Amino acid sequence: GFESAVDPSEDEEGDEPTLRPRTLEEFIGQEALKENLWVFVEAAKRRGEPLDHMLLAGPPGLGKTSLCRILAAEMGVDISITSGPSLERAGDMAAILTQLEEGDFLFIDEIHRLNRQIEEVLYPAMEDFAMDIVLGQGPSARTIRMDVPRFTLVGATTRTGLMTKPLLDRFGFNARLDYYAPEDLKKIVVRNAGILKVRITEAGAQQLAMRSRGTPRIANRLLKRVRDYAEVMGDGTIDDETAAAALLMQGVDDLGLDRIDRDYLALVIEKFGGGPVGVGTISVALGEARDTVEDVYEPYLLQSGLIQRTSRGRVATRRAYDHLGIPMVD
Ligand code: ADP
Repeated sequence: GFESAVDPSEDEEGDEPTLRPRTLEEFIGQEALKENLWVFVEAAKRRGEPLDHMLLAGPPGLGKTSLCRILAAEMGVDISITSGPSLERAGDMAAILTQLEEGDFLFIDEIHRLNRQIEEVLYPAMEDFAMDIVLGQGPSARTIRMDVPRFTLVGATTRTGLMTKPLLDRFGFNARLDYYAPEDLKKIVVRNAGILKVRITEAGAQQLAMRSRGTPRIANRLLKRVRDYAEVMGDGTIDDETAAAALLMQGVDDLGLDRIDRDYLALVIEKFGGGPVGVGTISVALGEARDTVEDVYEPYLLQSGLIQRTSRGRVATRRAYDHLGIPMVD
């Protein structure tokens, strides 16, 4: 692979690379998906064929990039990493495709944000491992077909709903990652505390697991902040109390909501009478990009039963009123 197209944001927030699971065994949770992936990889390996194109869908921080890296390592191939918004012209895509080697993975993050022109290049590349190049201009222009190496496209998306049907149809394996159960997050926290060489009690790990909004990336980030707190304010051990105090200092409440989540709920309840209110209006009022609100904040608020999505907009539930301690008047 060539690292020039690599998205520099991949190990953001100082996520120490050692915390990234390197094998399917180290990848905790998502048991059914892991079993399917294992069969998928084993079958391809036995046939000596590249892996079929694969789509990984789900909210940010649930392990899509990690899974892609694990599977590439299993297949013994290189990965080129790029993202939907960074590919502008058909030529960008063509340049990447021609540099791949047989069997390589091409990871396209935020694949729902590819433009039309790039998608048109991808269709024949995915299906026939071919690329149509237009030579010349005007009436004398002609198209020639070029081979591209048999590669594996791995698409990651937070929003399958925004993908076009022809693109969706070209993936042979469709994986959906869901928020992790607290038991799984607890295992991740305990394992990573071990890697970071920080002592953590059962109850301390439980606190972190309950407040990481079902997301390993958040669990890792909170673990590091709680470790800082335990080292400075305590004897370095993360127990129930240090975890709770440190999380409070980070603005993370007992449901794992942060300040923006609570601002969202307060806005819908106090400014818009509990809704319904459109997501565009909410985003503007919060000063957050609409995509971020829809991809990052809302999925967890929905899953926690704090808001509902209706045809006329978002509505705060009784649970949201209770959580903020605001009486609900009908
Ligand atoms: P995504 O690509 O979905 O945004 P990543 O693969 O970058 O998510 O995961 C973010 C971080 O969370 C990883 O660096 C890794 O440390 C951790 N992580 C994600 N999934 C798991 C898992 N199943 N087990 C252990 N750690 C995980």
